[in-house]
Amino acid sequence: MDVKKIYMDANALLEGHFKLSSGNHSQFYLQSAKVLEDPKNAKLLAEALAEQINASGLQVDTVCAPALGGLIAGFALAAALDKRSIFAERVEGKMSVRRGFEVSKGERVIICEDIITTGGSAMEAAAAIEALGGEVVGFAALANRGFCHRSKSSVTRQPNCKLPAEKPFFALEDFTFEIYTPETCPLCKEGKSEAIKPGSRGN
Ligand code: ZN
Repeated sequence: MDVKKIYMDANALLEGHFKLSSGNHSQFYLQSAKVLEDPKNAKLLAEALAEQINASGLQVDTVCAPALGGLIAGFALAAALDKRSIFAERVEGKMSVRRGFEVSKGERVIICEDIITTGGSAMEAAAAIEALGGEVVGFAALANRGFCHRSKSSVTRQPNCKLPAEKPFFALEDFTFEIYTPETCPLCKEGKSEAIKPGSRGN
């Protein structure tokens, strides 16, 4: 499966000259939600991710997604794994499990995101699950931004990755691309284009 092509075709991976919300520049821009605009893509990607998780032998009872970004991916993965789907949401800044969702003691939960950047939201969701007595057995995402190490990839873990190194992290593809300060941006140096701001969040 050519995951990058699926993202490109869905305009979820843009190529050009972008100004990220950090002020830095990049040749690529990921608008992860766009790939899930087509439910067929959500199903296709989640099934491939479920296949990886099943092949690893990891036992999972429940998929938990941090809202908002992880909702669709989490639900699609739960459907593909035929497991329960719940989500955690931020309430006054703190990630919590609400809406009557229950987590039993020792319940094996995998945290699922659409994309893992450094894994901050995923870790907050994991803490919310553990506070209820659940056991976080691993992490999953459709895409890995390239700061964390996913199973079966040569991309190494970077110091800013917040996921625990001892727990498995499954994702379909690494989206590693360079980010430049405006002063060092090679696209600016070329002088052919100006960096544009494509969306709300530059990850
Ligand atoms: Zn630039």
